[in-house]
Amino acid sequence: MERVRVRFAPSPTGPLHIGGARSALFNWLLARKYNGTMVVRIEDTDLERSSPESEKNILDSLRWLGIDWDEGVEKGGPYGPYRQTERVEIYREYAQRLLAEGKAYYCYCTEEELEAERQALLARGEMPRYTGRCLRLTVAEKRRLEAEGRRPALRFRVPPGRVVTVEDLVRGPVRFETDGIGDFVIVKSDGIPTYNFAVVIDDALMKITHVIRGEEHLSNTPRQLLLYEALGFTPPRFAHVSLILGQDRTKMSKRHGATSVEQYRRMGYLPEALINFLALLGWAPEGEKEIFSREELIQEFSLDRVAKNPAVFDLEKLNWLNGYYIRQAPLAKIRELAVPYLREAGYITGQENPAWLDLVVQSVREYLTCLAEITQHVGIYFAPQVPPADEEAANVLRGEQVPQVLTAFSRLVEERDITTVEEAKAVLKDLTRMTRLGGKQVYLPLRVALTGRTRGPELYYILPILGREKLKQRVEAAFAWLGVEKPAP
Ligand code: GLU
Repeated sequence: MERVRVRFAPSPTGPLHIGGARSALFNWLLARKYNGTMVVRIEDTDLERSSPESEKNILDSLRWLGIDWDEGVEKGGPYGPYRQTERVEIYREYAQRLLAEGKAYYCYCTEEELEAERQALLARGEMPRYTGRCLRLTVAEKRRLEAEGRRPALRFRVPPGRVVTVEDLVRGPVRFETDGIGDFVIVKSDGIPTYNFAVVIDDALMKITHVIRGEEHLSNTPRQLLLYEALGFTPPRFAHVSLILGQDRTKMSKRHGATSVEQYRRMGYLPEALINFLALLGWAPEGEKEIFSREELIQEFSLDRVAKNPAVFDLEKLNWLNGYYIRQAPLAKIRELAVPYLREAGYITGQENPAWLDLVVQSVREYLTCLAEITQHVGIYFAPQVPPADEEAANVLRGEQVPQVLTAFSRLVEERDITTVEEAKAVLKDLTRMTRLGGKQVYLPLRVALTGRTRGPELYYILPILGREKLKQRVEAAFAWLGVEKPAP
């Protein structure tokens, strides 16, 4: 088999979208699986909508996802440059060739004229397309139009009466009639090539073997195949991956929530979770397994298990996967990632003892679906006051054994160091021993006194996180709330 060469070819007209990331991933998986080459090419021929910021966002997002490339922008390689606006000379040469061979022609039509033709066709119930008006211009007419100052675009002459079949690796054969296509522009009047033209030349010259991209490009493919033929190039194999739909089964858009990789990154999704999720968005592995490491994906990915039907973006599944990866990751890594959220919420400065921060993170990590949520769970440690949050908690605190429990606890807090989970566990055990009460009668009111709530992180985390001073303060506040005199130590 020839060496696999694939590419991800984003247009830098916005941040990296989930759908783009999935295309990039599928190409990357194929490259890594077959020891092939991954190319990243920037398709910036839409000068108005392209921006360096978008390009940076896309490349940064790819790097964050761990989708690396062997050739392309920032990397270089034998078939560069890898940014289309830097390749205009190359396209010009091929355009001239098509023109000389009579496979392309100049078109002088203005936007208004094209629109009028479109409307006329629609009015007759015909498919709107270019009907080849400028193909029939005489030399004299061309001169006149040029004298008017019109600058022509270059159109490709679509051979009439043919059927072009895209042998799609996902969809099987898809037939298109050339009569429905109409001669299309390959170089605009400003000399900039269109996407369909540039993509063919680039994929051919860059020796791309497989083009994996979104289904929205399927209808471009017959045009591209005609260009391959006209230019004498061998086309790559195509795989068009289905659309991504929102839960309501309409095309995924901003309405459905976050659509860019960067947004997920900011919310505290882990790249390994997003990669795992994106892989399952359209690719169906054999068996029931849902958790895949990067290496497993590389091993198991195959285009013949990419589904034809649209993939539905299931946020709950992403949350589930992300929660899984948050729980699996080394604690120090999660702590590092959580610090910015805690700092932004004003809970920490970032100068705290890492072991203490580890406890804070560890105490709530099982509740997290994304790291940004951490701030909702750790408020109990930082609140200046924690009176009972509801009637249930208040009733627990009113239990008749509670003053005795809190008194015993106060003594232990004075006497013992409680900076680790082990020390905390020992103290909690001694507390039941000292009070001769069952666990529930001790731990539940203690929890309410220390956090104001009946539910939350394990007490053996809460104790060392709060530390001696806060423990004392909160016990005192509980006595005050109860209206009971705090017993002398
Ligand atoms: N620049 C195109 C896009 O971003 C790429 C299409 C292709 O992969 O051929 O949609």
